[in-house]
Amino acid sequence: MDRRTLLALPLGTPLLGMAPQAPAGGLEADLSTALAAVRAIDTHEHILPEVERVAAPVDVFTLASHYALDDLTSAGLDDADRRVIEDPKAATGDRWRRFEPFWRAAQHTGYGQALRIALADIYGVDELSSSSLDGLNARIAAANRPGLYRDVLLRRANLRVCLNDEYWQPRPTAVDPAIFALVRKFDAFVSPITRAGVGRLESQAGHAIASVADLERALAAQVEAALALGLVAIKTTLAYDRSLAFDEVTEGDAQRAFDRVMRDETPPGQGFRRVESRPYKALADHMFHHLVQLAEAHRLPVQVHTGLHAGNGNFVAHSRPTDLTNLFFRYPSVTFDLFHIGYPYHHEAAVIAKTFRNVCLDFCWMHVVSPLIARRVLAELIDLVPINKIFGFGGDYRYPELSYAHLVMARRNIAATLAARVRASAFTEARALEIGRALLHDNAARVFDRLAPAGL
Ligand SMILES: [Zn+2]
Repeated sequence: MDRRTLLALPLGTPLLGMAPQAPAGGLEADLSTALAAVRAIDTHEHILPEVERVAAPVDVFTLASHYALDDLTSAGLDDADRRVIEDPKAATGDRWRRFEPFWRAAQHTGYGQALRIALADIYGVDELSSSSLDGLNARIAAANRPGLYRDVLLRRANLRVCLNDEYWQPRPTAVDPAIFALVRKFDAFVSPITRAGVGRLESQAGHAIASVADLERALAAQVEAALALGLVAIKTTLAYDRSLAFDEVTEGDAQRAFDRVMRDETPPGQGFRRVESRPYKALADHMFHHLVQLAEAHRLPVQVHTGLHAGNGNFVAHSRPTDLTNLFFRYPSVTFDLFHIGYPYHHEAAVIAKTFRNVCLDFCWMHVVSPLIARRVLAELIDLVPINKIFGFGGDYRYPELSYAHLVMARRNIAATLAARVRASAFTEARALEIGRALLHDNAARVFDRLAPAGL
């Protein structure tokens, strides 16, 4: 079937499927309904520009490739089979044969739940099976056209804006302001580890980088270029590559480390060795402090990856929130947004957020990592941390259908948690609604104050 035939298929009215963990009735249902009307701010996404998304073929295996396939890998799917599943040119039946045994094991995890909710609510398919596969793929292909993002993210998900980190863009790039706000990582400028890496930064910066001072100048110009495009926060995922302990390093010591990089004194290790050993840590420590100083000067919040890493295997202890403590003291006017509530170090993150005025906790990614843990931790946090510093939702997906599904799960978790607190007489239903609005919208609107005012 060619693409034109697929587009000619009637999409049909999307059905509300039997999505996992549908809310019970009564108070929880009332809160769910009220919270569904809140236009949420999504604190973290990686959604592809719509023109790129609709230009490529998309099917259920494409959607499964973001996170769900990681759980299939964890269940035992080997890398060669995964490559076939992710190859749009491979035969659908062959891809399904490799996918199905591990999907049976992984469909109940949070990632599996999100995929099932997206397929049920948006594409009207309650169960992914060999008999539903072709019809489902035809519906996904038919919907893959301009307007999809407005339909899924604005109309269905009822989002006001998504803070989007387009880490794959080599330079700061404008986003569609009707849906997105720009967040950007500058980690390449913070942590070069080869002479060739510095060369790539030179071509991006448009000038020679022969010293730490040059590197700082290039970093500052990158931040300013992003600000001109509407940057609302700085992001870092350095915890994927090294620990979050950033010592205060003098420019002289950083320069010595930079000189060793330029001589390629210690070639990067292969595979996990590259993460295990960081011979130029002093340079990156110095540069990260410089980045936070730029955030301070421009009044930009800093979003920090803490906790569990995406993908299949990393040094989870590299992402402990407590390693950042010196920064919280050193930069009291910078707001630090601790991603993923630091899970599995959420207790550390909670104690930090309780005691430091400048630290917030962010549930981005967390409701799909484990909806049940997210729900339990939210109940603990409402009891422990002032509610004005908790962000209740960030999708952290590449495909908007899954961001929608994640938000369904987040709204359910928030409604269930607040309903339980109302039943325990902690606060009234009216107050629960105010807290729900704070978690889904008001806290992010206050902290990310470069966002356009609501209603625009
Ligand atoms: Zn992310």
